[in-house]
Amino acid sequence: MSGEVREVIVIGSGPAGYTAALYTARAELKPLVFGGAIFVGGSLTTTTEVENFPGFPDGIDGPDLMTNMRAQAERFGAEIVEDDIVSVDLAGEIKEVTDTAGTVHRAKAVIVATGSGYRKLGLPNEDALSGRGVSWCATCDGFFFRDRDIVVVGGGDTAMEEATFLTRFARSVTVVHRRSTLRASQVMQNRAFADDKISFAFDSEIAQIKETGGMLAGVVLRDVISGDTRDLDVTGLFIAIGHDPRTELFKGQLDLDEDGYLKVDSPSTRTNIPGVFAAGDVVDHTYRQAITAAASGCQAALDAERHLAALS
Ligand code: FAD
Repeated sequence: MSGEVREVIVIGSGPAGYTAALYTARAELKPLVFGGAIFVGGSLTTTTEVENFPGFPDGIDGPDLMTNMRAQAERFGAEIVEDDIVSVDLAGEIKEVTDTAGTVHRAKAVIVATGSGYRKLGLPNEDALSGRGVSWCATCDGFFFRDRDIVVVGGGDTAMEEATFLTRFARSVTVVHRRSTLRASQVMQNRAFADDKISFAFDSEIAQIKETGGMLAGVVLRDVISGDTRDLDVTGLFIAIGHDPRTELFKGQLDLDEDGYLKVDSPSTRTNIPGVFAAGDVVDHTYRQAITAAASGCQAALDAERHLAALS
């Protein structure tokens, strides 16, 4: 066990975690940040250009943005550890979190910013082509696909929303869904069916992602009933089959909603346990942007500061 009781521990090093670290560091709370063993900097480290984070008129590379956020938090004294937290005990006034070496770290407040992961198709070159034609976020990347032919995978509300949004830019959008009917709400389906730019490939899945020169160069569709395959000539693949919040660690301690996201006393970032706050995509079903994650990281830091002030 580490002897010291810190003021605040932050779990996560995405925009939410680093912003919480920046604010708590500037409030002289000397945050200890667990940034993850292999995923330091969070989701934006897996993308190329980010054009919608304010302050960068020419855009900025995702990994560079996260390096900048880290440096800014460290400048004010945030201590960032590249390790995972493997268990937590949050109930008492002093919270305990345990790292992969088994060392227990203690703090009066904990900010959870562990994000969420987009579900993947599980195809070999899917990750390598992320930001190179493969995307999980139309709001983030739709703009790069002007006059392109695009495929969207999924049959729920998100897939219909992404497909409809992408028609602003794309020449054509093909929605690929494994079943013969959509799961999306009727209103979302109607909107998609009424859109001339959208066509549907039902009972179909992506069998292969084709690549040329490190960029997506088409997909192979497979009919799940007949097994027949066919080429689809697209330069964009948007995967909209859901996401999984990283909340496994907190089950049984923090309240989760039916989809596994952490519940907070909105509009604050307070969880059901006093002194534990949550921010970013681990809470957010809806907006899921770097700027909204950063904003809620700021809120969590301010909420933690107030909590600590009330303790003293
Ligand atoms: P994340 O960035 O996901 O960070 C979660 C952090 O938690 C990681 O550091 C991880 O290591 C850490 N963590 C998880 N579990 C543990 C643990 N047990 N112990 C320690 N650490 C842990 N948004 C935009 O606004 N613009 C874009 O252009 C854009 N493009 C995107 C492109 C891609 C490919 C992806 C995947 C997302 C994109 N997004 C974009 C969305 C944006 O990245 C997310 O909304 C944002 O990163 C969420 O921030 P977060 O801090 O909540 O979580």
